[in-house]
Amino acid sequence: MKNDQVAIGIDIGGTNTKIGLFDHAGVLLSYRTHPTPKASDPAPFIDQLAQECDQLLVSECGFHLGDSRLVGVGAGAPMANYFTGRVDNAPNLGWRNVPLRDLFAEKFKTNAVIENDANLAAVGEKRWGAGKDFSDFILITLGTGVGTGLILNGKLYRGFNALGAEGGHLIIPHDKQRLCSCGGLNHLESYLSAKGIKQTITELTGEEWTIEKLGVEFKNGNLRAQTIINCIAQELATGFVSIAVLFGPQAFVIGGGVSKLGDPFFAVVLRKFDELVHFSLKGKVRIIGASLSSDKGAIYGGAAHIIDEVFQA
Ligand SMILES: [Zn+2]
Repeated sequence: MKNDQVAIGIDIGGTNTKIGLFDHAGVLLSYRTHPTPKASDPAPFIDQLAQECDQLLVSECGFHLGDSRLVGVGAGAPMANYFTGRVDNAPNLGWRNVPLRDLFAEKFKTNAVIENDANLAAVGEKRWGAGKDFSDFILITLGTGVGTGLILNGKLYRGFNALGAEGGHLIIPHDKQRLCSCGGLNHLESYLSAKGIKQTITELTGEEWTIEKLGVEFKNGNLRAQTIINCIAQELATGFVSIAVLFGPQAFVIGGGVSKLGDPFFAVVLRKFDELVHFSLKGKVRIIGASLSSDKGAIYGGAAHIIDEVFQA
């Protein structure tokens, strides 16, 4: 890749769509965010995104869409299938049978790749972030939902259906019974999504705390905050133990809004993980924060992914 080349990463979420323009080294040159419209036909929205990216290219780089200095666009969307280039059914977006990759390629006049968002975040961390030096790691995003992306032997693992590992829907043993957003019972997401953590806080304190307040109170040594952190760290470590014995990763890289709890939280998770995990892995797996961004991981990953794809890094 040449120094004057750029790539675009896009993350279409159920609520907002994020756009990032990146240089060859993964530096974010320009960033925008918009509400994602609820529409069964996304073509007008993709067209609108293309027009906006054209303006960004002109102001940042002095050229338009269609110029070969744009390597391509990597886009994340719920249920995006890398292999087929399609989104067959995304209830959160109201989409059915959408040829998303072709839409991006046509409107942006360049190479395009689509992928689910946690997979993209894993690719981004592998190329430019906390996963750079690992051949095998699991990226987990703790946010509205819980997503996972697996890098195995240096490559993204997708499974046959391109949706990759869905560690958020791993069943964890628990004395409670909590329904997951997918309809399953006691999935990791039922406890570790922002909503799940807030539910635990209310159950333990009878009060409503934000995740930020939990972080601050924990740092201040508040005993109730310590109890909450111990509880959610135990739940997360339980999920990690099952994932770790299957894949033998060097690290878990944690992103998403909840990861703002930061190193003090990761240290508790690691302690519990080492207590629970098989002896062959004790003391050998790291648990660290994502380094690119807690909420922009997928757009970094989108740009990294299209660069990898085009240059077959
Ligand atoms: Zn689930």
